[in-house]
Amino acid sequence: MKVTEHIARAKETLFSFEILPPLKGETIQSIYDTLDPLMEVNPPFIDVTYHREEVVYKRLKNGLVEPKTIRKRPGTVGIAAALMNRYHVDAVPHLICGGFSKEETENALIDLDFLGIENVLVLRGDPAKGEKKFMPSPQGHHYAIDLLNQVEEMNRGKYLDDELENSSPTNFCIGVAGYPEKHFEAPNLKTDLNYLKAKVDAGADYIVTQLFFDNQAFFDFEKSCREIGIEVPIIPGIKPISVKNHLNLLPNFFHIDLPEDLSDAIMKAKSPEAIRQVGIEWSVNQCKELMSHGVPCLHFYTMGRTSNIHEIVKELT
Ligand code: FAD
Repeated sequence: MKVTEHIARAKETLFSFEILPPLKGETIQSIYDTLDPLMEVNPPFIDVTYHREEVVYKRLKNGLVEPKTIRKRPGTVGIAAALMNRYHVDAVPHLICGGFSKEETENALIDLDFLGIENVLVLRGDPAKGEKKFMPSPQGHHYAIDLLNQVEEMNRGKYLDDELENSSPTNFCIGVAGYPEKHFEAPNLKTDLNYLKAKVDAGADYIVTQLFFDNQAFFDFEKSCREIGIEVPIIPGIKPISVKNHLNLLPNFFHIDLPEDLSDAIMKAKSPEAIRQVGIEWSVNQCKELMSHGVPCLHFYTMGRTSNIHEIVKELT
């Protein structure tokens, strides 16, 4: 079922989770161990991130260093299918522009369609490690909207090969990313919102936001979206702080601010367990306020840690 259908049918706020494929060489059991406890809250869908290739440097026996391009976390499509099979939930594989040609994207979409996957979250992806700005692959897409247009074309039965006749249309529900505190490359929030509106006008069915810790940022973002005519569901992204170095790591990596009350409480906490508890309590309060505001779904970024998220959702149900 499509994410938008789940939202339309829901009588209460839904909970969804986002997982990362395991590092190459690990088994899928690590994903099941992560998700099994969370399934008691009946998430209608689970997102699986996509990770672009990166260059690693291997030292050779002769002392020289050789660059090698590898994908450390492959398996998004396989995991999406495995989750549907094991848990009977809908999977939302992410698709990114970075590292993919249009042809590779089309082939991935064909696989997803054949597997009965009806949802995708389309993203540009971050610049590759070591690159200052995002560089599209040769024959690839530059912005998420370009990738979205390709999915939309396939939903109309139009594939890259013009000569194909009677091609079956796919039927993907398409999500896109939104940034309550603005995407880090955008010159200002207004410009960023206009590009978000363009994604919605091009066919995006819903928006999932970057993680944030100050609900006011989300409320303001949602209001601005509505004011410029974005009417699709907006799903807030939630990530509980669980360790002290999140204080630097999260703002650095995700370009978001942490409220002073939260960073003060983390700084004052006397043990790792106390820090974890501060993170849980902050998220619970954040989620309760978002639920009473009427958000359709709370989307939890697990990033491989779920025991704290399990405690949060139990508190909310
Ligand atoms: P876009 O919508 O393309 O926007 C990128 C930037 O370009 C923005 O500053 C925007 O304002 C600007 N822009 C947009 N369109 C245009 C245009 N036509 N002309 C000029 N400027 C434009 N990354 C991964 O690698 N894998 C994942 O699985 C993944 N999952 C994510 C899930 C969520 C919910 C979120 C919020 C992010 C995720 N990311 C993931 C990170 C994401 O790829 C990065 O934030 C990336 O830098 C931007 O992606 P986007 O889809 O928002 O890009």
